[in-house]
Amino acid sequence: HGFVDHADIAKLVEAAETGATLAETPKPIDFDAYVAEGGYGLLRRCLRGETDADTVIQALSDSKLRGLGGAGFPTGKKWSIVRQQAHPRYVAINADEGEPGTFKDRWCMERDPHRFIEGTLIACLAVDAEACYIYLRDEYPQVHEILRQALDRAVAEGLNGHTRIVLRRGAGAYICGEESAMLESIEGKRGLPRHKPPFAAEVGLWGKPTLTNNVETMYWVRDIVEKGPDWFAGQGRNGSHGLRLFSVSGRVKEPGVKLAPAGITLRELVDEFCGGMSEGHTLKGYLPGGASGGILPASHADIPLDFGTLDEYGCFLGSGAVVVLSDKDDIKAAALNLMRFFEDESCGQCTPCRNGTEKAVKLLQQEKWDTALLADLSKVMRDASICGLGQAAPNPVDCVIKFFPEDLR
Ligand code: SF4
Repeated sequence: HGFVDHADIAKLVEAAETGATLAETPKPIDFDAYVAEGGYGLLRRCLRGETDADTVIQALSDSKLRGLGGAGFPTGKKWSIVRQQAHPRYVAINADEGEPGTFKDRWCMERDPHRFIEGTLIACLAVDAEACYIYLRDEYPQVHEILRQALDRAVAEGLNGHTRIVLRRGAGAYICGEESAMLESIEGKRGLPRHKPPFAAEVGLWGKPTLTNNVETMYWVRDIVEKGPDWFAGQGRNGSHGLRLFSVSGRVKEPGVKLAPAGITLRELVDEFCGGMSEGHTLKGYLPGGASGGILPASHADIPLDFGTLDEYGCFLGSGAVVVLSDKDDIKAAALNLMRFFEDESCGQCTPCRNGTEKAVKLLQQEKWDTALLADLSKVMRDASICGLGQAAPNPVDCVIKFFPEDLR
């Protein structure tokens, strides 16, 4: 996404030509190893009725677990809303992970697929789902293979109860990671976001109540119930609760997926978890939440990273895709790059987003930005776009105008 060193590009090209692997991915923890350390014990207790759905839902609520796909809706509350709806009910797991800079769901599924599957099957049991659709990003073919095998084994062991499990290949569009567009895609239609309300919990797949959750949210279910909600809730920092898998990329010494307390600041994340900034680079700013979450300057590196903490700056954490920029990066070019991405990925359903992103790209390509016109366009896109893509697309540009005036001179 434009934040790669030339040296890195050379390495990537060489790897592509020679077939070399850049980094070894550890083998996934297989079924037997997972079971040996107590895996599927909770699910089996749920299947036998020794642990009931209310207990599980209460634990999730007490742990303060929130949807880690980016929306941050309280998980226990969502499960109980779906549970109160009429049958048939469905579960749809969002494994589309298309937000630029996000790769933590892949990390969960590649390394510990059964922990994710156990959480998912507990969700199916809790809402008594007829079928569960796992909508997997098609750019993750190796994860497809890992999940296929892991799911086959779990089903062969009878761990899915009466819920039918379907592993679906994503359709390759960013917008299909938007909850309602994902539902359309699972139904076999073009991935166009739906108007909300009604929400998926009441009117989801084929018009039926549907529990939609992200991979990482499911990943935490077992640990929260087994170790207790206080264990999870007590992990945060700076007033936040829980643990979070941050995807950190950009100008840091050790990029990657970082398991860190919710509410950690960017400065703490870089210094304590990423070995500091890359050699010769000084922090200039960062994207706290991928392409959509805006850009904050280095002077804002001490804000707790959590749901809601960045609202007043016009930013959000989303799925925790932190991209670190340095004095060597061109912030205007980054904003243009992000807007081009949105222009490409706009589904085209509504005018403010379809035409707005295209118009914004043209304005951002001009040497001197017309900030008044950009602000006007941004307001229209925010107010009138149907879904989050169009509403959030102006975030990076608005941030550059607000926080990086020096770069516009
Ligand atoms: Fe499609 Fe953009 Fe409208 Fe969302 S905001 S429905 S992506 S055109």
